[in-house]
Amino acid sequence: MLIDLHLHSTASDGTDTPAEVMAVAAAAGLHTVALTDHDSAAGWAEASVAARQLGLTLLPGAEISCQIGGIGVHLLAYLYDPENAALLAETTRTRRDRVDRARRMVQRMSHDLDITWADVLEHVGPAATVGRPHLADALVALGMVRSRDEAFDTLLHSRSPYYLPHYSPEAEQVVRMVVAAGGVPVMAHPRADKRGRIVSLADIADLATAGLAGLEVDHRDNAEEDRQVLRELARDLDLLTTGSSDYHGTGKDNRIAENTTRPEVLEQIVALGTAERVVRP
Ligand code: AMP
Ligand code: FE
Ligand code: FE
Ligand code: ZN
Repeated sequence: MLIDLHLHSTASDGTDTPAEVMAVAAAAGLHTVALTDHDSAAGWAEASVAARQLGLTLLPGAEISCQIGGIGVHLLAYLYDPENAALLAETTRTRRDRVDRARRMVQRMSHDLDITWADVLEHVGPAATVGRPHLADALVALGMVRSRDEAFDTLLHSRSPYYLPHYSPEAEQVVRMVVAAGGVPVMAHPRADKRGRIVSLADIADLATAGLAGLEVDHRDNAEEDRQVLRELARDLDLLTTGSSDYHGTGKDNRIAENTTRPEVLEQIVALGTAERVVRP
């Protein structure tokens, strides 16, 4: 029974529509998946219809952009109420500022490169959460870089002169909000240090005190020795440990189901969250 709880669609920066993501998941032999677009539940309805048709179990979710003292933290939130006012206010604020930030990054680039906001919009799906991957797609289409990967290594890197951060709420606050909204918060790729600073184990312990339910241990961006550290921390703090692909379609090398979550862990996530929100075939 294969379980992959971290997938992106065109509702954020993935390249497959929500229905296509479900089809790819079914073709890969997955039994249960979660759709976790950045700061958005916009793909849930389409994914739910497709999942039922394909015989997949779906946990609606999102990957919420947060920070601790300016260091970026991604929180996977499963089975929460998408209409919860507090959470919706935060994700809406983030999504709005992501557009503004992307426009300002394009403005910065336009001093040196022949790129406009209209070039970017061609690559942003309806209702998509805008991110640097969409800027990367425009740069690829304009022939300025060969791939999203190359764009992130150069023009879009966090140390590039064109880079700007976007608004994101405090992680501890979001953990509390997700729990209050009937959801289950799991910290995504806690040791992904290739593209920016990461928070300390003490910071993770504080999130656990606030209600964090688990750590995404098996993820390609956590090095093997870090996974061991995370497993020990999870034991100490009584946290669940998950594994997921972070599939983005053709936007990233991550292959669907390349990491998976154990069925016992899935059961506990469902038991902690609003179980009625699980979409079953
Ligand atoms: P942003 O949230 O706009 O700052 O952009 C970060 C997003 O870009 C993350 O959600 C990743 O999914 C994506 N990303 C990061 N590095 C790469 C890469 N090398 N290739 C493709 N996508 C990437
Ligand atoms: Fe992404
Ligand atoms: Fe992430
Ligand atoms: Zn992700």
